[in-house]
Amino acid sequence: MSWEIVMGLEVHAELLTKTKIFCGCRASFGGEPNTHVCPVCSGMPGALPKLNRAVVDCALRLGLALGCDITRHCKFDRKNYFYPDLPKAYQVSQLYAPICRNGKLGDIRLYQIHMEEDAGKLLHTAHGTRMDFNRCGVPLLEIVTQPDFRSTEQVLAYLEQLRETLVYLDICDGKMQEGSLRCDVNLSVRRPGEDFGTRTETKNLNSFKAIGRAIAYEAQRQIALLESGQTVTQETRRWDDNKEQSYSMRSKENAQDYRYFPEPDLLPMHIDEAWLARVQASLPELAAAKRARLAQEFGLSEYGAKLLTEHKELAGLFEDIARQSGQPKEAANLIIGEIMRLMNSTNTLPEDVRLDAGKAALLIALVVDSSISRAAFKQTVGAMFTHGVDPQAYIDENGLRMVNDNSAVEQAVAKALAENPNAVADYNAGLEKAFGFLMGQVMRQLGRAGNPEVVRKVLVAQLTIAEKPA
Ligand code: ADP
Ligand code: ZN
Ligand code: MG
Repeated sequence: MSWEIVMGLEVHAELLTKTKIFCGCRASFGGEPNTHVCPVCSGMPGALPKLNRAVVDCALRLGLALGCDITRHCKFDRKNYFYPDLPKAYQVSQLYAPICRNGKLGDIRLYQIHMEEDAGKLLHTAHGTRMDFNRCGVPLLEIVTQPDFRSTEQVLAYLEQLRETLVYLDICDGKMQEGSLRCDVNLSVRRPGEDFGTRTETKNLNSFKAIGRAIAYEAQRQIALLESGQTVTQETRRWDDNKEQSYSMRSKENAQDYRYFPEPDLLPMHIDEAWLARVQASLPELAAAKRARLAQEFGLSEYGAKLLTEHKELAGLFEDIARQSGQPKEAANLIIGEIMRLMNSTNTLPEDVRLDAGKAALLIALVVDSSISRAAFKQTVGAMFTHGVDPQAYIDENGLRMVNDNSAVEQAVAKALAENPNAVADYNAGLEKAFGFLMGQVMRQLGRAGNPEVVRKVLVAQLTIAEKPA
C-alpha cells in the first residue's frame, strides 16, 4: 500500500522596513558586525521597546491581500528561550492574538500570520563562536499554513507564489540565499484515509532545491521507520545541504516549554476601520491579476505573460514600452528575448535594469518600419542596456540606418555578380547554396546598413535577368 506525505509550512519573511521592529536601528541586511545595535535590540536591562507602525502596515498588506481575518485588538507575547543569538533571552512574538488568521493562497489554507523579531547571527570560526546582533530585532512575518500540502511540487508552487506576493507588495525582497525568506517544513506520512501521523519539522532550508531534497529525504526516513515497525519521534531536524541529509536538533518543544506570556512592555494595539481602509487602498495589483490583465489587454500567450510578470519591474517596463510603441509583440520580444538575455549574461537584477521606455519604443518603431535591421536593433538594445545610449544618436553614429534606396543596393548586387561568376553559374545550375553566398557578398558590402529583405528582392531580380540560355 502506498504512503501519503502531509506537510505544513512555516515561512519567515524579513520585512523591508527602514528600521527594526522595536527601535530605530537600521534593519538592512549585512553591515559590519554589531554596528546596527542599540540598548533595545541588544537586550540591555531597562531598555524599553517602541513598536514600529510600518511593521503592522506590512502585516496588514499581506493579510488583506490573502483574505485573512484581521485581529482588531492584537497583542505581543514573550517566547522565552536561552540561546546566544538572543541577547534578551526571549523573543517578542505573537501567540494568543496574532494579527491575521485564516485566509488562503491558491488552494492552501493559511492558519495564521504573526509579527515577531528576528534573532542575531552566530559566526562559527576556528577561534570560537562570534555573535553578530545586527539582525536582532529585524521585523519578521511568520506565515503558517494548515497541513494542506501533499507533494513537493505543491510546496514549491506555494513558495513561489508567496515570494512573488511579498515582492509585489513591497514588503520583503524574497531573497532566500540572504535569508530574507526562510522556510521550515513540517512533515508526516500516513496511509491514505488514515489520521495524520507524527510530524517532524526540518529547518535550515536555503533554496528551493534544498527544500525538494529535504522533503524526499524526510519522507523516506519516516516511511522506512514505520515499515520496520518503529515510530516517528516528534522533533526538530536540521538539514545539511552538503551531506544531503538532516539530523535531529532537539525533541519538539511545545508552547509550555517556551513559557509564553503577554509582553508587559508593549501596549495592545487597536487596528481601526480607517487604518484598514488606508492599507486596503494602497494595495498594488498583484502578480496573478497583472498576468491575466496583460495577457488579455496585449494578446500575450500565457507563457509570455508569466515570464513578463515574474519580476514586477520588468512587467512595468513591458507595459510602458507596449503602450508607447503600440507594438506589444515587439515589446514582449524585446524584454523576453533581449533584456532577459542581457540580464543573465551580465548578472543584472531586475531592479537594476535602466532602460528608458520612451527610447525603447522609438527603437521598435525604427525596426518595424525597416529603418534598421534586426541585427542593428539587437546591437542598439545592447548599447542602451549597458551604456544607456540614446538610440537615434547611436544608430546615426554607427551608420546603422538601412540602405533602403534601391540604386545603392542594385549597385552592390551588380558588383557581387560581376565578381563571382562561378557562384552565378552554380546558382543557374540549381545550387541553392550559391544564393546564400551571393547574399553574403552583397550584405558584406552594405554592412549593418543592408536590409536583407531588399537585398533578397534585388538579387533575385538581377539573377533572373542574368540567367540567359547559353
Ligand atoms: P506548533 O505550535 O507545535 O509549531 P502548529 O500547530 O503551529 O504546531 O503547526 C506547525 C505547522 O505544522 C503548521 O504549518 C501545520 O500545518 C503543520 N502540521 C501540524 N500537524 C501536522 C502533521 N501531522 N503533519 C504535517 N504537518 C503538520
Ligand atoms: Zn536597536
Ligand atoms: Mg507553530
